[in-house]
Order: sequence, then C-alpha cells, then structure tokens
Amino acid sequence: MNFFGKILIFISLFIGFTANAAGLEITNQDIDAFKGKYFNDKIRILIVPGHDKEYPGAEFKTIKEETFNLQLATNLFDYFKNDPNFDAYITRDSSGYLPVFKNYFTDKKDAIEKYVSLSNDWFSNLFPDFQWVDGVEHNTAKKEVATRLFGINAWANENNMDLIIHVHFNDVAGRKKNVAGDYSGFSIYIPEKQLNNYFFSNELAKSIFPNLEKVLAVSDLPLENKGIVEDQQLIAIGPKNTLFSPSLLIEYGYIYDSYALNSSIRKLFFNELAYRTYIGVKKYFDSSKIYAESTLLPNKWNSGLIYGIKNNKNVLSLQLALVGQGVYPPESYSLKDCPITGNFLKCTKLAIGQFQEKYSSDILKPINLSVATKILGPMTLKKLNSLYSK
Ligand SMILES: [Zn+2]
Repeated sequence: MNFFGKILIFISLFIGFTANAAGLEITNQDIDAFKGKYFNDKIRILIVPGHDKEYPGAEFKTIKEETFNLQLATNLFDYFKNDPNFDAYITRDSSGYLPVFKNYFTDKKDAIEKYVSLSNDWFSNLFPDFQWVDGVEHNTAKKEVATRLFGINAWANENNMDLIIHVHFNDVAGRKKNVAGDYSGFSIYIPEKQLNNYFFSNELAKSIFPNLEKVLAVSDLPLENKGIVEDQQLIAIGPKNTLFSPSLLIEYGYIYDSYALNSSIRKLFFNELAYRTYIGVKKYFDSSKIYAESTLLPNKWNSGLIYGIKNNKNVLSLQLALVGQGVYPPESYSLKDCPITGNFLKCTKLAIGQFQEKYSSDILKPINLSVATKILGPMTLKKLNSLYSK
C-alpha cells in the first residue's frame, strides 16, 4: 500500500478513535491490554535523541545539545534493548540517522508533508470542540526539522510503536550564548489532556517523574514548574492527534545545568538518569517487582573521602546513597541549591551530618558523641558500607 493509502487509514483511525474514545474514556480493558502486552508480548519502544548533527538544538559554550541527548538516549536505549519485555528502536546513533529513518525521511518527504497538511485540514473538522490553551512557548521548528519530526510520528504510527521517549536538554530564549540562563531543572512534556494519546503518556510520566525528582531539581520556569507539563504544540508528542502511541518528551534539565558537571561524572550521571527513566517505565507495567535503586550502588567506600574532593565517583555514589536515605539534599536545601555533582562540599557534609543523626545509635553513641561530626569517619563508613556494600 502506498503512503497516501496509509494516510487515509490514519485519518479513518482518527475517526474510529473519536467514535469509540469520545471524551478520552480509557477503559480498564484498554489498561489491561496495554499492560498485558508487557507480559505476553513486547512493548515496542522508540527512543529519539532530540535534534541531530545538522540541527543541534541548544548550544552552551562548547556543548551542542544533540550530543548530550545522544549520550543519554543511547544509555536509555541500551536498557530497553537488553530487556526481554521490550522491542527497542532508536532513531540515530553516533554516525547519524539509522538507514531506516534516513530513507524514510527522503523517500516519503512529500507524503509526510501531505500527511501534515491533511491532519491540519481535518483536525478542526474532526474535533470541532477542541479547546486551544496557552502553554509554555517553544521555538517554531524549521520546516525541514518539522518534517523529520512528523516523519518520526508517521513511522511510529506505521510501525505500531507502543511508546516513544524523546530525550532533550532545555534552554531559555534570549540567553547569551556562553552565559547560563535564569531557569534550571527537569520537566516531562506530555500531550495535552484532550489529545488521543494523553492517558497513557500521563500514566507513564507519573511513573517516571518520582525517580527523576529524587536526583534532579524540577524546572522553575513558570508553567513548566508543575514538572509534568501538558502541551498541544510540540511535534514530538503528537499535536492534532498525529500520533497514536503515548509519547513523552523529557527535558533532563537545562543545558547549562549539566554542562557544569565534569565530563566523567556527567557520563555516569546521564546513565543514572537513563536508568531511573527506564525503571519508571518498568514500574508502570510491573509495580510488584523490586528494582535496583541506582546504577552506582552497591558501592564500598574507603577512608580518604574528605571535604573538598571534586568530580569523584565515590562521592557521586555517596550522594546517591544519601538520596536513598532521604537525607540528600540536606534539610532546608533543594536540589537546585545542592545538585548531584560528585563534589564533596557543603551539601554533602550537611547530608552526612543528617545521616549520622539518623543512625546515631550505630554511629555516634558507641563513641560517646552526641552531635554529628559531618565527617566521613570510621563509624559512618562502617554504617554506610553495611547498608550499601553488598
Ligand atoms: Zn531540545
């Protein structure tokens, strides 16, 4: 069948969808069917590292956003690829778009453009009651970029994807190229609630969000500061019902937030963020299973971790252990004040103090201390290792 025929099928599916899902009523059967696929078949997932070599997205100092996106998205793809419950796809790797996508964009360019304009024409007829609302403002995508993104949506529809995750780092408009902007933190964009792929997108976002919230500050940009942000415009998540499957666009912080991390720590931290995203998805399908807390735990710490050490893997894993203990960020600080960095500075010191107080009968009392030392001494190390070195 040619692509145009498939467009008509897409469109008739839109009609079918409206007819049986009026008001977006998702039934328990729909939920059981979606979750059942995880156990009885495989969830077909598409990972999209945002932007590409040609249109690299945000830039900060020497960093182009697409390289951050690719690094994190590749980690994410690897988790899904190695999991028998998933059938994982990714749009590009370090050598560019995979042939299937590259060819799709060129061979079906006209069809994709037709599909977009048809969807535009038909949408207002099919959904006359659709309410447009103001959301976070985005840059308008260049035509070629928009065609690629709609092409990814069309490919996902044609290939029955069950879930799409777009990986991005955020930016603020009007920032000077080498100066950090005013906002920071992560957010998860999902289709706005009137759109056909809202329900499962929202369910999955709610499952991923708490995992990321433990290690990343939530965006403080107005409207984005809800953390899970409904959107009607972003092509990646299927505006005007151009996408059937749930789709999430995760902004893993602002580009200058992550730039601040030393590159070896960043590599470990991005993998941690990918893992937390992956576990969030798995938890949605199988909440009964216990998943390992972090990619950097278990760990064994030795003496010598002292105040002032920077860009250290053991400090990074210590910070993640302290997160797990509920003492990082330390009381009265947020992750915006105390980002996870692998640096042993004030935030880590205060958190160690709280850890010592939490386990004072094991750490402080035996050596007749009544006040936390905030130093990683032998008793504190012993307790940490008893909890995390197995
Ligand atoms: Zn981006």
